[in-house]
Amino acid sequence: MTAAYDPNNIFAKILRGEIPCHKVYEDEDTLAFMDVMPQGDGHTLVIPKTPARNILDANPAQLNAVMATVQRIAKAVKVAFQSDGVFVMQFNEAGAGQTVFHLHVHVVPRWEGIALKPHTGAMADGALLADHAAKIRSALGQ
Ligand code: AMP
Repeated sequence: MTAAYDPNNIFAKILRGEIPCHKVYEDEDTLAFMDVMPQGDGHTLVIPKTPARNILDANPAQLNAVMATVQRIAKAVKVAFQSDGVFVMQFNEAGAGQTVFHLHVHVVPRWEGIALKPHTGAMADGALLADHAAKIRSALGQ
């Protein structure tokens, strides 16, 4: 059985404004912001504004809204970082690698021959993340 949604997860705190994020995009249903431990330049996360642990308990409206924003962000990061492609990944439950239990989709620009960086646990420089968020917002026309 899937565990219940925990309203004190870190992305719920970001949604409530209790902790900061480098915001890239927001609409009525979704928020996109920079991953603080990016596996590549431009690594962005897209989340629904309403509670869901992952796709196993999300409803179709949440999934639709998240994927529409994922597409928007994927196009923007490709332009902003002049990447060869865009990697989209998403984990469901700890056994599959999920560490934050609010539904999120990773959107990462990729270049041929350049591997993703491993998760080191080290936070990226805040000024660099702010600069990357600004680049993506600019590609979104915001
Ligand atoms: P996962 O649950 O494995 O899909 O990954 C959760 C992701 O959230 C990781 O890539 C973390 O680097 C990222 N992360 C954790 N805390 C924050 C935070 N406060 N702001 C932005 N990203 C975060």
